[in-house]
Amino acid sequence: MPAASEAFGPLEEDARRLDAADPLRGYRERFHVPALPDGRSVAYFCGNSLGLQPKRARDLLVEELDEWRRRAVNGHFEGARPWFAYHEQFREPAARLIGALPSEVVTMNSLTVNLHLLMVSFYRPTRERFKILMEEPAFPSDTYAAQSQLRFHGFDLAAGLLRLRPREGEAALRTEDILARIETEGASIALVLLGGVNFVTGQWFDMPRITEAARRAGCTVGWDLAHAAGNVPLRLHDWGADFAAWCSYKYLNAGPGAVAGCFVHERHARSPDLVRFAGWWGNDPATRFRMQLNETFVPREGADGWQISNPPIFALAPLLASLELFDAAGMDALRAKSLRLTGYLEFLLDRLPAGFIEVATPRDPARRGCQLSIRVPGRAKALRARLEAAGVVCDFREPDTLRVAPAPLYNSFHDVWRFARELADEGAHA
Ligand SMILES: *Cc1c(COP(=O)(O)O)cnc(C)c1O
Repeated sequence: MPAASEAFGPLEEDARRLDAADPLRGYRERFHVPALPDGRSVAYFCGNSLGLQPKRARDLLVEELDEWRRRAVNGHFEGARPWFAYHEQFREPAARLIGALPSEVVTMNSLTVNLHLLMVSFYRPTRERFKILMEEPAFPSDTYAAQSQLRFHGFDLAAGLLRLRPREGEAALRTEDILARIETEGASIALVLLGGVNFVTGQWFDMPRITEAARRAGCTVGWDLAHAAGNVPLRLHDWGADFAAWCSYKYLNAGPGAVAGCFVHERHARSPDLVRFAGWWGNDPATRFRMQLNETFVPREGADGWQISNPPIFALAPLLASLELFDAAGMDALRAKSLRLTGYLEFLLDRLPAGFIEVATPRDPARRGCQLSIRVPGRAKALRARLEAAGVVCDFREPDTLRVAPAPLYNSFHDVWRFARELADEGAHA
């Protein structure tokens, strides 16, 4: 087999040829891609922030509005998708997405809320073992959540929050450094809480080795999969993490503020002693509606037992449209295309004048998802204006970084080519 990059070429017709040979090219049609005033579609690279709208999302949402209008309270038990069990439809597709058993997955709340609820159960500090190990930079919400958990348990923030920092002059963390830190400080660490894929650098951590090392050191392990779910292939069950949480509006295309996901490993499925914040939706459904007759909380087995409230049906409906597409395309095929798309982006970036840009994301495709974080020292502002004028949407972070995420479900090789052409034009004037 020829190396994947052999088929790459720098011309527009090369990009068109790559698109014609893409077995997943049809999926783009299943999304609303925003258009420019002249009718051309935008080249959209912000799927790591807010994924595009699946065309079927509106139908599924309107269906539930109609059920409400027609059936009112009976909609809980009648209709095509009764609300009483509505969230259960997500269990299997979400489990496939993150490599879990269906019973280990539940769709509920939003991401940071889920992190808190899971920390209630899995961050159980003692005097000797109370620290939380995170990466730097971590998403601010995760930092606030961890800090407030430390406070809640009466611990000092400076002593309680450990940060993994890249070595001087390096953008990404080295696995060996993460493992060494866990080995040397593990006895005082209660919880290792990392992003599966870091939101700034796009680095995909070595999740199985880190999970294994942390558990060996006696720590619990939680993964924030906000930038990993729907981006990279995951095997949460086999890797043995205690818990994970992710949002559904980034790579999972379920719309702004969409309902998030949770994973709780099977070994915690039947642990009545595990402390948790309870609500009726986490109770055994057989007695859920007995209300005042049942004052004792009987948690459902598995991740379902962490639910609190009855779910927001209108916020869930679009997720169904998106997960159907993930199931139809399959994570393996999506990852294969993702490697090609991001590889093509890298191939084009490597043809730019030396020193114009710098890729902060690991060069090893096994250590990243689809996102490349590109530093453009001194030219980022000008470049941003140029990209906007050309209908190329990516994200800009002060002072000089562009985050570009070609999503294999809807981005084309031609989109990537358009982005790179704007960089090349700017580079020619640098
Ligand atoms: C996007 C993101 C969040 C957002 O949290 P919400 O609770 O969904 O608002 C949190 N953490 C990480 C790592 C993220 O990437």
